[in-house]
Amino acid sequence: MYPSRFRYEAPRSLAEAIGLLHDGGDDAKVLAGGQSLVPLMKLRFAAPQLVVDINNVPGLDYHRADADGTLRIGALCRHADLERSELLKTTQPTMASAAPLIADPIVRNRGTLVGSLCHADPQGDWASVVLALGGSVVAQGPRGIRAIPLADFVTGPFQNVLDPDEIAIEAVIPAAQGTRSGGYLKLERRVGDFATVGVAVALETSGETVTRAGIALTGVGGSTIGATSAAGALTGVPLTADRIAQAADLAAEAARPRTDHRGSAEYKRHMVRTFVVRLLSRTDAAAERAA
Ligand SMILES: Cc1cc2nc3c(=O)[nH]c(=O)nc-3n(C[C@H](O)[C@H](O)[C@H](O)COP(=O)(O)OP(=O)(O)OC[C@H]3O[C@@H](n4cnc5c(N)ncnc54)[C@H](O)[C@@H]3O)c2cc1C
Repeated sequence: MYPSRFRYEAPRSLAEAIGLLHDGGDDAKVLAGGQSLVPLMKLRFAAPQLVVDINNVPGLDYHRADADGTLRIGALCRHADLERSELLKTTQPTMASAAPLIADPIVRNRGTLVGSLCHADPQGDWASVVLALGGSVVAQGPRGIRAIPLADFVTGPFQNVLDPDEIAIEAVIPAAQGTRSGGYLKLERRVGDFATVGVAVALETSGETVTRAGIALTGVGGSTIGATSAAGALTGVPLTADRIAQAADLAAEAARPRTDHRGSAEYKRHMVRTFVVRLLSRTDAAAERAA
């Protein structure tokens, strides 16, 4: 199908883009990678009257670490940039393992992490990863700049707290306070598919003690789920087999899967439990204790 008729603008500065969105109000949409917006427009599930393409806005295609280790991912940083990133491979195991699992190479070449967070698809992989890492989204609009923790950013399926004239300019991952470990596992029917079940685990350890834990679930509820009780069971104590089993049970309890053509709710819950055990058992902290 063809999209409904719309006006297309490709501003060359952030200020111009924000001005266009402000004038367009509820009928305007930002276009970043276009890998979710364009299919929705073609299916006529979205029919914006104004599309503001931010691809000509300079200086948004970065991902970099500040001196203290805080990671910043600009609004035009593509999934493929993150897949190829040496910085992620050496400092961000959860992100590095998720990047190659997003869609297929064609989508990864255009789609953006920030766009994925804004799209707020319950099956979007990046939201779980960023939630597990305690990340946030920085938004800029006519009233200034604000940082929104991801836990508060997504309000439901395909919904976020951005005002119509705000642009998400970057995602921010806080610096680790200890040694980082973790990963992302995804059950998909075939390579490149959306997640039937996805689990993100992000740990920080100091000596034998887990100083921070984040666990988040993809595809097993109406929106991305932060398994906070499961993460809480790991924090402040060493990573033992008992703690891992307890966290896996709590994460499975936090899941809200539905039975569908991809599997029964019980099967999906079982996969959450299995993935949590697998991810936690392969962390450096667990490996050291098992040795
Ligand atoms: C075939 C296919 C398979 C896919 N498989 C997966 C998968 O396995 N896992 C997965 O996570 N995703 C998957 N996706 C989605 C893909 O990751 C998209 O790239 C992503 O969801 C949206 O990023 P985008 O940059 O393309 O955003 P766009 O499509 O440009 O925008 C998406 C939405 O976010 C808004 N938006 C985008 N950027 C901003 C911004 N900076 N500020 C404010 N609002 C903004 C737009 O207005 C729009 O509402 C798939 C897509 C396709 C087409």
